[in-house]
Amino acid sequence: MSKVSCNVIRDLLPLDIDGVVSEDSKRLVEEHLEGCEECRREKEKLEQAAPVAAPDPSESGAAIKKLKKKLRRKNLFLISVFSVLVSALICGGLIYVWRSGIPASSKNISVTMEMLETRYLGADQPIWMLYFTNEEGTLLYGRKESVMTNGDVCGYVIYLMEKPFSSGEEPYTYSVGCPVPSNWEEDPDQLFYVTIVYRDTHESYYLEDYESWPSPADTVR
Ligand SMILES: [Zn+2]
Repeated sequence: MSKVSCNVIRDLLPLDIDGVVSEDSKRLVEEHLEGCEECRREKEKLEQAAPVAAPDPSESGAAIKKLKKKLRRKNLFLISVFSVLVSALICGGLIYVWRSGIPASSKNISVTMEMLETRYLGADQPIWMLYFTNEEGTLLYGRKESVMTNGDVCGYVIYLMEKPFSSGEEPYTYSVGCPVPSNWEEDPDQLFYVTIVYRDTHESYYLEDYESWPSPADTVR
């Protein structure tokens, strides 16, 4: 066999191993290899090298598994954080409702207001007592949240609540009053109001309409 023939065969060997040569070339290579020890060894070397060069499917499988595991751990972490946040939110909400009660609906609730004798109480301002009862006559709770004064305007906002679950106290009444200008007796222009906030609506009562306010035991609705 000539050296040229060996070189041609070595050029063909990789293609032969990959199985992409024609039948004629394949036969040519086989015939040559039968009589050439050197080229046979060259082919063995190439065949041994081939699997290393190709991507190892088991290895890439392991890499994917590792990546999946990493992603799963990341997901677990995110799910845990999310669960903790949601739980905290639910607990906070429950504690809030437990302590403050649920806002009362305006349906079937009576509001009773009564002007107190301020001279008798030693107060220098008019004081009203407010009672909230449901249709069964049970007194309801309210949060007297704020008094707002702005010049001639003064008012309270009362958030009417169902009885808080945490409270063992008896329902109470609300005394509301505002500082009164000295000339109030002659000129009761100061706008005094009480706004009652229900779950579904709110309603305001004004001092100037006092004559039309419900008298004790009367009901607004
Ligand atoms: Zn050869």
